[in-house]
Amino acid sequence: MNETTWHIKQLKRIRGKIRVLTGLHIGGSPERMEIGGVDNPIIRDPANGEPYIPGSSLKGKMRSLMEWHLGKLQDDGKVHDCRSPDCPICRVFGCPASDKVGPGPTRLIVRDCMLSEEARENYLKGAEIAEIKHENSINRITAMANPRPLERVLPGVTFDLDLVYRVIDTGDDGRTDTDYFQKVVLKALALVESDFLGGCGSRGCGKVRFEDLKDEKGRKLSLPSLES
Ligand SMILES: [Zn+2]
Repeated sequence: MNETTWHIKQLKRIRGKIRVLTGLHIGGSPERMEIGGVDNPIIRDPANGEPYIPGSSLKGKMRSLMEWHLGKLQDDGKVHDCRSPDCPICRVFGCPASDKVGPGPTRLIVRDCMLSEEARENYLKGAEIAEIKHENSINRITAMANPRPLERVLPGVTFDLDLVYRVIDTGDDGRTDTDYFQKVVLKALALVESDFLGGCGSRGCGKVRFEDLKDEKGRKLSLPSLES
């Protein structure tokens, strides 16, 4: 086996805040439900009971919106997985491990988004952080309302965003990955802002905004427009 010249050329980073604009519902596990608890709880950190946004939820949403955006949907509706070396989806978001070298390691790491310091301080001072919203489905014949409780993180709450992106020189001096940072990673965040995070988005939940985005050197980052 020959040595490869591939190497990590740069680690890019995006840090900032995610601000909840309309109630955010990312479902937690119902097994953890207490008696008399909500039957549709949000996910919380078991260590301290605080809500958080799992990195997998944010990354999965970025990926799925980017698959739509780039026309990379598979006809079986499953997660896109072509494994071709230059595929922006497989390269940035990753594909299952296999014998083929393909696009190489997943470039993007999305950390769990924990409550921001500001939100945690307010929470510890007793501010509400989540609400139980009752949604009604109306029986079409009897007109009987069937209320269903849904727990949501309240608008205004902020979480810390932390993304790491590996620029790998695959013989192109890292140009492809550098290009995809703008066209895929930042674009995907812009797509999330125009869509929603978590559940019940078509009923108004999960609108978020990314704020104070900075790169690894503390320089301001802005999200690209969706028209370009
Ligand atoms: Zn692909």
